Amino acid sequence: MKALVLDKAYNYKVKDVELPILQDDEVLIEVKASGICTNDLRDYKGGSIYSLPRIGGHEYSGVIHSVGSKVNKKRFAIGKRAVAYIIPACGECYFCKRNEENLCEDVPSSKTFQNEGGISGFGGFAEYVAVKARDVYIYENEVPFEIMAMTEPLACVISSVNKCNVQFGDDVVIIGGGYMGLLHLLVAQRKGARVFLSEPDESRRKLAISYGCTAAFDPTKYDVVDEVKKLTDGRGAEVVFDTTSIAKVAQQAIEMTCPGGRCMLFSSIHPNTPIALDAGRVHSKEIEILGSVSPTVPTFNQAVLMLDKKIIDPEFLIHKVLPFTDVDLAFQEALKPDTFKVIMKFNS
Ligand SMILES: [Zn+2]
Ligand SMILES: [Zn+2]
Repeated sequence: MKALVLDKAYNYKVKDVELPILQDDEVLIEVKASGICTNDLRDYKGGSIYSLPRIGGHEYSGVIHSVGSKVNKKRFAIGKRAVAYIIPACGECYFCKRNEENLCEDVPSSKTFQNEGGISGFGGFAEYVAVKARDVYIYENEVPFEIMAMTEPLACVISSVNKCNVQFGDDVVIIGGGYMGLLHLLVAQRKGARVFLSEPDESRRKLAISYGCTAAFDPTKYDVVDEVKKLTDGRGAEVVFDTTSIAKVAQQAIEMTCPGGRCMLFSSIHPNTPIALDAGRVHSKEIEILGSVSPTVPTFNQAVLMLDKKIIDPEFLIHKVLPFTDVDLAFQEALKPDTFKVIMKFNS
């Protein structure tokens, strides 16, 4: 099969690699679409802490091509549309036993990340991927493969919104109007919140407004903490989602969270500079500061249902769809700061 193999920074090559050998309990997915994620970009730019060569791609969708001998052939019928939960959790460690497989102790040392002498990676930038049947989720409806490829990022956002326990009538601030920020907008709205956005790019602010955001500010022109307080009778917002990677912004996010509110630090922070924290206010105003990383099994399932039932339609967040053979162009597009999701097509 053909796969995109990253040998060194800025160097993805189309290569012939061996088709995965299917185990008894595995499903072979014929990949149709695969989204480029921020951490694929980090690997591409040479910031990877994972072993090379690497086949990235964890936001993929496709159809079932074949199944191992012990797989339920009715449930996982050949030709069905499918996506896969991509955390290679061990199922055995302290965190896995608490249903926190996104925090699994063994994941960082798994072959997905460290595979000396072999190819590391989630494998979604290839024509076929073999996955354990227990990690495969079926789409029952004819949802486009590009939309199905958004399951994993949407699941990350659902995890984040669930943790913040958004209530009907809450004020929510989203900091950063990129792909993940606007997915937060779509999900938070369905939880009955009034949503404000902080985003320097005017076209993104307009887009957010057109999708139901109540007000959007330019943080380069306004003090966003003040603006949020003005709109909330001086209280701040019940829930704040910081989707940027800037440490200083995390500090502001905490400052604009109202008493009793929750502040989600959603993104990884680069560079990870420590921030000043008003610990006294966190105590006396009962501010909850939360983190969220990767989807869990239930939130991945919720993302499948949200997209399969068309409860949300994030099609407007697709920037470009390109054949995987145009990998250089696809990564150039994805690296531009003002683009949303770039998706590569396989087997089309
Ligand atoms: Zn991702
Ligand atoms: Zn584990």
